[in-house]
Amino acid sequence: MSCIFCQIANKEIPSQFLFENDNLVAFRDLNPQAPVHILVVPKMHISSMNEITSENSSVVAEIFEAINKIAEQEGIKESGYRVISNCGDDGCQSVKHLHFHLVGGKKLSETLS
Ligand code: AMP
Ligand code: ZN
Repeated sequence: MSCIFCQIANKEIPSQFLFENDNLVAFRDLNPQAPVHILVVPKMHISSMNEITSENSSVVAEIFEAINKIAEQEGIKESGYRVISNCGDDGCQSVKHLHFHLVGGKKLSETLS
């Protein structure tokens, strides 16, 4: 299966991780939309938020714990930030492997859509 985020998480594509544990990785977005733009990705292939179940949801809690640590590492914990997960066509999800954008380092738009 040629899923780009599986390949990054499995280290088939070299990438610099800002955070890694047994279940997730975090790395900088290729096309940053803000001074801090990091993707937090489960190692397990989950296609989107639609596929979160009671069997795999513990990784989502871990992702949010990691986001907390990464925000501190990046110096944006106090200034604030936004976490986004796009889902499906209307959500403009381009990579079909669950991921959370951690965006900050500047005042973000007040509108979401
Ligand atoms: P989404 O549109 O929510 O599916 O977001 C996918 C994100 O992945 C986009 O912001 C892309 O810039 C980013 N992206 C795609 N390929 C890579 C890659 N190889 N390394 C880092 N970020 C990537
Ligand atoms: Zn994948």
